[in-house]
Amino acid sequence: MTQRWPFAHSAERRWHDPAALLRHLGITCPEDIDVEAIARYCNARVSYQSLNGCAGRIVGHRGRAVIVVDRNTHPFRRRFTIAHELGHWMFDRADVAHVYTEDAWGQPSEQPPAADNGPHEVWYEDRPEQRANRWAAELLMPEGWFAPDAAGREISFDTVRDLAQHYRTSLTATALRLLELGSTPAMLIRSCRDQPNRWFRRGAGVPRSLWPHPEPWPGTVAFDLLHGHSLHTGLTAVAADGWIDRRDAWWFRVNEDSLPVGGGDVLTLISWPDDAQLRATFTLAGTWLPWKPGKNARARLLKCLCDKWSYRRRRGQPGETVLETDQPTPQHLTVSSAEALDVEGFRRLVDEVATHKGVPPGIVLRSMLRRPK
Ligand SMILES: [Zn+2]
Repeated sequence: MTQRWPFAHSAERRWHDPAALLRHLGITCPEDIDVEAIARYCNARVSYQSLNGCAGRIVGHRGRAVIVVDRNTHPFRRRFTIAHELGHWMFDRADVAHVYTEDAWGQPSEQPPAADNGPHEVWYEDRPEQRANRWAAELLMPEGWFAPDAAGREISFDTVRDLAQHYRTSLTATALRLLELGSTPAMLIRSCRDQPNRWFRRGAGVPRSLWPHPEPWPGTVAFDLLHGHSLHTGLTAVAADGWIDRRDAWWFRVNEDSLPVGGGDVLTLISWPDDAQLRATFTLAGTWLPWKPGKNARARLLKCLCDKWSYRRRRGQPGETVLETDQPTPQHLTVSSAEALDVEGFRRLVDEVATHKGVPPGIVLRSMLRRPK
């Protein structure tokens, strides 16, 4: 019997589950994920060259393949590119001749990936790009390891950098994995100046009724970064209406972490760390406030506070109304009746009531949505 490469039979196998491949190879920690060696095991040789306009490509013939990777990109990104091409190798082997460009990763899931126009159009049907990306993410950041590592951590680029260092993956790829497996619902958005956002991705637990604006509004960190007003970065609480395109969004607050990235773009993580607030968001999903802040809103708020939250109304100084309650402890609120109640004033008032009553603000807001009989 002729000598065979010991793994020859196994290498023919198409590993649709990267976790099974890692187990098979006895790999038990991220440091041991040598993606080039894994590719070799799967009969794909990796070659580093200077490429123009794409991060990598794969050409396969008769069970063997060559993956060419742009040598000028960051090593962590190269690892992802190799893993992505290997994903194609596992699923799309019949006529693999594929070019992977960076933009393929992270296109909004609502649109077909724009990076693979032309010859691969037919692939849109089974979304091979998404499938290859999923395969790559699962190979380099296996759920069984990543989820415990991400559990309970804040959604910020500090966390992303830390995990990216551990798993040797790019910032974007790691951030997307954090959206998927982290404990806090979040969204990742890439915006650019004077144009609509390039793409966004919702994390697990973010309702599909929440959409970002085409571009960040003034008041967000990203807006300031895009327009050169500041260089401030780091986790910041902002009003959700700066990001989320819904009439009730002004009510909520989100955490924003924005970071300048290549080409003048800004990458932003939006997260909803306050569970109560998120529950309220879910409750309100699909419901638009039937009014705008102003006189009408104030009248409705006052009536709601008296009817449902046991406040008593009494006349205060000219031009103001005083609300009093003894439950659970004495409190009184002064509401100006002279001018229209603006969004901030309204938010502040509902916040005070919610804090005093010990309920999430969304509950107070929701009690106003039902028309008084
Ligand atoms: Zn691809």
